[in-house]
Amino acid sequence: MKTGLVTGIAGQDGSYLAELLVTKGYRVVGAARDVQRISDFLSSSLMSRVELVEWDMLNPVAMVDVLLRYQPAEVYNYAAYSSGVGMFDDAVGIGEVNGLAVVRILEAIREADTNIRFCQASSSEMFGDAIESPQSEETRFQPRSPYGAAKLYAHSMFRIYRQRYGLFACSAILFNHESPRRGLGFVTRKIAHEAAKIKLGLANELRLGNLDARRDWGFAGDYVRAMWLMLQQPHAGDYVVATGETHSVREICEIAFGHLGLDYRDYVREDAAAYRPAESVQLVGNSERARKQLGWVPEVGFREMVSMMVDADLRKLH
Ligand code: NDP
Repeated sequence: MKTGLVTGIAGQDGSYLAELLVTKGYRVVGAARDVQRISDFLSSSLMSRVELVEWDMLNPVAMVDVLLRYQPAEVYNYAAYSSGVGMFDDAVGIGEVNGLAVVRILEAIREADTNIRFCQASSSEMFGDAIESPQSEETRFQPRSPYGAAKLYAHSMFRIYRQRYGLFACSAILFNHESPRRGLGFVTRKIAHEAAKIKLGLANELRLGNLDARRDWGFAGDYVRAMWLMLQQPHAGDYVVATGETHSVREICEIAFGHLGLDYRDYVREDAAAYRPAESVQLVGNSERARKQLGWVPEVGFREMVSMMVDADLRKLH
């Protein structure tokens, strides 16, 4: 039985990956900064199938201890400051956890067992002010936030550790991915949640920024499958994981409210104060390498994903 160690297991991707690994027969170790709080986030069925261990992103000695104790074949690093609006908050903390701590894990792997396969959740935010569209693994990175810069530092170290030490270290360049488990600070979930509240008479208006802003949004369950596939290959590499389609915030509203039999135009107000600076080049991923080399294809479409999120919020609020 293979062991998979997942940091950030209480988050969106951590919980989907843990479920995937369980179905594939892995022993799953969930590494978290506060294991007492995990049961608030994971389903009881998943809780009964994972082992939990304290994991401190700032403590390399403890990381080595955990790797020696559990002897994982695969490590997935999802622990990070990940909030959409918080990409500029606490630049030092973001640098520590999203950048330097990833190198601590690489070092811990070197010390504990160089056969461990390691997947890092990198981000399309590394492209920042992108120079071309769509973006692939070869596109030059120009991060425009402390979050993107810290992720880029970690990503760069992956190539170095592959070349210098022969580690099996994969960097997944993830475009936005969503699900009913997405945090409420993200626009997809905010719309799904508020639409459900409006349907239930618990709210009557939703204020949003630019409705015509477009993103490449995929389903989290599909994206963790891509990361698992990366670690099953003969060689390690970097892969863009993206749908290659863009949709607007307005389309999310249309689908979410429409799914509830409502017209978004009756409830959604555009708020100029919430506008974010527009990109000069559209952020959208070219995931041809993942599709060809990993045989990865996203299975859940945009409409299905938004409807799934609305249904989940409706159930929670009822
Ligand atoms: P979530 O915010 O849902 O989960 C992040 C996890 O990181 C949480 O479990 C959280 O733990 C943990 N974490 C946060 N801060 C710290 C810290 N200082 N020390 C230790 N753990 C911490 O994110 P997602 O699941 O959506 O994302 C997973 C990874 O993928 C992240 O690294 C993110 O940056 C990256 N990514 C995600 C994208 C997306 O669209 N979802 C796009 C690109 C990259 P706790 O439960 O204790 O708060």
